[in-house]
Amino acid sequence: MNQKRIAIIGGGPAGLAAAELLSLSGHAVTVYDAMPTFARKFLLAGKSGLNITHSEDYTSFAARFGAASARLRPALDAFTPDDIRDWAAGLGTETFVGSSGRVFPTVMKASPLLRAWLRRLEQQGVALRTRHRWTGFAEGGYVFETPEGREIAHCDAALLALGGASWPRLGSDAIWVPWLAERGVEIDAFQPANCGFIVGWSASFSERFAGEPVKSVTAASEAGTFPGEFVITASGIEGSLVYAHAASLRDRLQSHGSAVLTLDLAPGRTAERLTRDLSRQDTKSSFSNRLRKGAGIDGVKAALLRELVPERDRTDPQRLAGMIKALPIPLLETRPIAEAISSAGGIRWSGIDEDFMLKALPGTFVAGEMLDWEAPTGGYLLTACLATGRAAARGIETWLLQ
Ligand SMILES: Cc1cc2nc3c(=O)[nH]c(=O)nc-3n(C[C@H](O)[C@H](O)[C@H](O)COP(=O)(O)OP(=O)(O)OC[C@H]3O[C@@H](n4cnc5c(N)ncnc54)[C@H](O)[C@@H]3O)c2cc1C
Repeated sequence: MNQKRIAIIGGGPAGLAAAELLSLSGHAVTVYDAMPTFARKFLLAGKSGLNITHSEDYTSFAARFGAASARLRPALDAFTPDDIRDWAAGLGTETFVGSSGRVFPTVMKASPLLRAWLRRLEQQGVALRTRHRWTGFAEGGYVFETPEGREIAHCDAALLALGGASWPRLGSDAIWVPWLAERGVEIDAFQPANCGFIVGWSASFSERFAGEPVKSVTAASEAGTFPGEFVITASGIEGSLVYAHAASLRDRLQSHGSAVLTLDLAPGRTAERLTRDLSRQDTKSSFSNRLRKGAGIDGVKAALLRELVPERDRTDPQRLAGMIKALPIPLLETRPIAEAISSAGGIRWSGIDEDFMLKALPGTFVAGEMLDWEAPTGGYLLTACLATGRAAARGIETWLLQ
């Protein structure tokens, strides 16, 4: 066989998934990463259990990627959530379906899977190069800064799998954007996805309640109404229920300059029942007592009402019941992208072909979070990174046969 040289730049889940397929075909594959070790974000995801994929009905699953769902579909079809579970099992990591349908390794961490994966890649002949920071193009090759100085890699095809723009200290810092833009690759600005929001809390509320979880509520936005929980932070709100609304709230902040997440603090009780029970309370008793006895609300939920319900509505049972059922939390801004779980934006789909090759740079392929798609938390992110890495690998094989 005519062995080809393939450079994979970025050793996160997308890059490693591509290396796995390409090395099986006997190509000379080198994975370069800027950091001293590979897949640091994948390891960090393991700290919260490594939600590697989701077990919901596949049609619903494949629709979770918004406007990008159609473009991602062939890659997802070729590496489905079931395939991911089989692949992990093949590397010695059994998985289970959690109560929410999310899929996790039984060990609830990423390190054993990553160790076994890197070992297998080495056994398949993949050259693994850490501390190799790609810094652009020169002399028809890819330039790296290494501890030994500047190095230029010449190859028959390359995959860029450099990640998005969240958590830059783990390696994906998006500094490559201008280098590709100069070469005619269209890139939408990265934005925070699955992120927290800033709320103008009073100092006393933030000091007293930062870190406090708000459980068993539902939250509504243009994205829909979902049950769940979130966390009060010193500057605002974060957590899974907030992330479920984050894309819609971020877009609304951009288009209208303001956005509101509306909470139902008592999903088990109707407004009518709350109105009736609150009406029975002694108007002279404190706000806290009336909430506790008339609505079963105390702690952080009562504090949210004290923080956000105008004085005049607190003594009117009907209005207070209305606020308990639909409490608007006004949002000022997203938290910075450096803190977000993932990023939206990236290389536009119009700039790549069906095989994940950059139209402006034939022979250079792209995969993972650096492409313009976003998805909620729930294992969708890792699934799409692994699936696009593999799809780009197949694209490279096709290209190399031409
Ligand atoms: C706290 C946290 C928890 C998460 N939990 C989950 C979860 O449970 N489930 C889930 O599905 N997703 C989760 N994610 C998201 C998921 O980890 C990412 O979507 C995924 O890692 C992206 O994969 P990638 O291969 O595209 O990029 P990355 O994992 O970001 O990898 C890109 C690699 O490219 C390297 N690189 C970047 N620039 C250069 C350069 N110039 N030269 C050389 N190398 C470079 C980086 O060092 C990095 O190793 C989580 C993310 C965070 C931050």
